[in-house]
Amino acid sequence: MSDLNELYQQLIIDHGRSPRNFAVSLNANHVREGHNPLCGDQLTIYITEKNNVVENATFQGCGCAISMASASLMTEALKGKSVERVKKIFQAFHELITIGHTDEDVGKLTVLAGVNEFPMRVKCATLAWHTMMAAIENNVDKVSTE
Ligand code: ZN
Repeated sequence: MSDLNELYQQLIIDHGRSPRNFAVSLNANHVREGHNPLCGDQLTIYITEKNNVVENATFQGCGCAISMASASLMTEALKGKSVERVKKIFQAFHELITIGHTDEDVGKLTVLAGVNEFPMRVKCATLAWHTMMAAIENNVDKVSTE
């Protein structure tokens, strides 16, 4: 089990240090900014959606390793998924982070399950996700974890 934890930690550090899909996307049709004042995490999510399918997902910003790793893993998880599926993944991820497990298959996202034990970090991990949902739903309210 400790080996597994170590592997998870490495994945989080890897994604935190060299996030995937870290770019401004000029052809995105859903763009939102999110902010976690508790930790200082700040990011912008770029979603390119066509015919109810997320064709591309990128992000930019700065924050702690957890927030960056979560955004990085999220963009990888969402590409090519239908908006309906994205909403299911969001719910499953939320379960994973808040109660530590989910019945849905969330693939690599399970590396973030351990965040559940660190309530302060939950907001770091969910920031990208709340921002992404606001982007997809064209919600104009300011996204803040507070
Ligand atoms: Zn953070």
